[in-house]
Amino acid sequence: MTNNNGDSETVTLSHTKGDSRLKIDKEIELLIRAKYPIISLLSWEEDRITRQLKQMAAELDIENVRTWSFSRGFDDEDLSLGPPKDPISALDDCLKDEQDGVFIFYDFHPFLRDHASRSLFNRKLRDLAIAFRESPLLRTIILISPIADIPDELEKDVTLIDYPLPEVGEIDDIFEETIKTTGAKSLLSPSDKEKLLKAALGLTVNEIRNVFAKAVVDNNQIQAEDIQFIIEEKRQIIRKSGILEYYPLEEEFDSIGGLNALKEWLRQRSNSFSYKAREFGLPEPKGILLVGIPGCGKSLSAKAVAAEWKQPLLRLDIGKIFGGIVGSSEENMRRAIKVAESVSPTILWLDEIEKGFAGMKDGGDSGVTSRVFGTFLTWMQEKNKPVFVVATANDISKLPPEFLRKGRFDEIFFVDLPEPDEIKEIIAIHLQKRNRDPEDFDLEMLAKIAKGYTGAEIEQIIISSLYTAFHTNKDIDTAMIETAIQETVPLSKTMETEITALRRWAQKRARFASEVRTTGSDQMKPPIKPLTKLRFPYMFDNQQKANTFSEFKELCKENESEVWENISAGRMEKWLERNNFFELAAETAKLRDYTNNDIAFEQFLALLEKVS
Ligand code: ATP
Repeated sequence: MTNNNGDSETVTLSHTKGDSRLKIDKEIELLIRAKYPIISLLSWEEDRITRQLKQMAAELDIENVRTWSFSRGFDDEDLSLGPPKDPISALDDCLKDEQDGVFIFYDFHPFLRDHASRSLFNRKLRDLAIAFRESPLLRTIILISPIADIPDELEKDVTLIDYPLPEVGEIDDIFEETIKTTGAKSLLSPSDKEKLLKAALGLTVNEIRNVFAKAVVDNNQIQAEDIQFIIEEKRQIIRKSGILEYYPLEEEFDSIGGLNALKEWLRQRSNSFSYKAREFGLPEPKGILLVGIPGCGKSLSAKAVAAEWKQPLLRLDIGKIFGGIVGSSEENMRRAIKVAESVSPTILWLDEIEKGFAGMKDGGDSGVTSRVFGTFLTWMQEKNKPVFVVATANDISKLPPEFLRKGRFDEIFFVDLPEPDEIKEIIAIHLQKRNRDPEDFDLEMLAKIAKGYTGAEIEQIIISSLYTAFHTNKDIDTAMIETAIQETVPLSKTMETEITALRRWAQKRARFASEVRTTGSDQMKPPIKPLTKLRFPYMFDNQQKANTFSEFKELCKENESEVWENISAGRMEKWLERNNFFELAAETAKLRDYTNNDIAFEQFLALLEKVS
């Protein structure tokens, strides 16, 4: 990979051969030697892992390695004598086996979750764990499955390990093996070979074998052009996984009007994944959260970062994580992270993240959302691979507060409606995109009347003016754009309350993505004062209502940094429509101990301002 300075960037490829395999296998070996009774390996690659385990067992002088599957029973069973061993008898066999042994079970997870069999299997495994621990023999059960589904009751007995996909060293081995077995010729220069190996990151051993085999099949040689072919194949494979999507790098910073502070922040970090940056003592950036009004360039910015940093862009479809289409939600999240890490350095784009995590607050999914969310946050906190996360959100009130805590993201940017200078740039960009010279238009005047319009609306205005021009056999001009602006009702009119609330929130908790208004987290935050408990009588008389309300409002003002939860904007609107501040105040106070929703609080203040 070439970085922005044009330097050849090899640091991420500087693994020694089979590096990760050795590390993870050493860990497993240690567990076996320490008599850990049950190890659960999370992976799709049972063949590859079985090979590694056999090798490892041989090094430990353990000859007794058996594999079991529901369809085949044990690999050494004579099926002519009867049906394959059922899972319980298979476990009994392991218990009775009076010699050192590694017992590999494929896809055992359904038995541990199935209602009818669950208690029997869990108990059996626990008995086995106790017996293995107490015995002087070295015996370990290894469960290999693509789903991490260990029931709570087994947590203390089972060690769960996420088995990584092959790294560059192992891919190199497969490459050499392909060359050898096919007799193909490699015409790759050392740097092209590095690129080719890197292009295969993120794939399983079988997938890598297949793409390499496909690459040599037509002319029995591997050349630089095959790198593109492998990237394309990988794109297809990742797409088939249904969760991550490869995005073509087509937008650039120049196609974003305004948002200068954000662009500058990102430009400053464009080489921050390099070896030089590490040597200099810089930490690797984790990611940013872009919050703001729909259609103002959040997604556009995510795409542009990837192009500017020259890194692949992977879009994670949060909806599909929970969609139950491909597998369990937690497994989906884990898999997405694994694939993103294996193709790193990369940009992982999570679009409209609040949509995925909204279920958390309703509590209607028996904790699945919060577990998925926990997996993601823990990864964000601990990640040591260069995966830069760009998360975007329109409605911050739906995001769990943990998300917004300092330290998760490097920065939270607020993307506001464009200011006139930015509108000018946006109009110019969209005219240029359609081969018109911005110089021919009165951008100054147009920018003034388009205040309050989003970038997406401005783009649509240009497009509809072009239609008008085409229809009337003229070319687009300032007057046509002016008319289109006047005919469009901007979103900001219908979303006034939400936008005001979002801005208030952003003023204290985010950086403004546009230079003109950069204040945000640079500002001193007001100190948090403790919130005195308010007590509401069940019945209010008018005087009590008035007193309570003014006291409440005072408290709200004093506690601007206090966090509030569960006041939905809809409910507030309803109460306010009925002019029922009291109920609102009472409800808010009741819920305040849950805390943790600043935006609800800001919305509340914004609404109060509007109606009072
Ligand atoms: P949403 O939350 O609805 O997805 P968003 O903030 O992510 O909105 P984008 O998808 O980035 O908005 O914007 C939609 C389109 O509007 C962009 O593809 C681009 O054509 C245009 N646009 C928005 N903002 C800008 C901008 N600042 N400069 C140039 N074009 C813009």
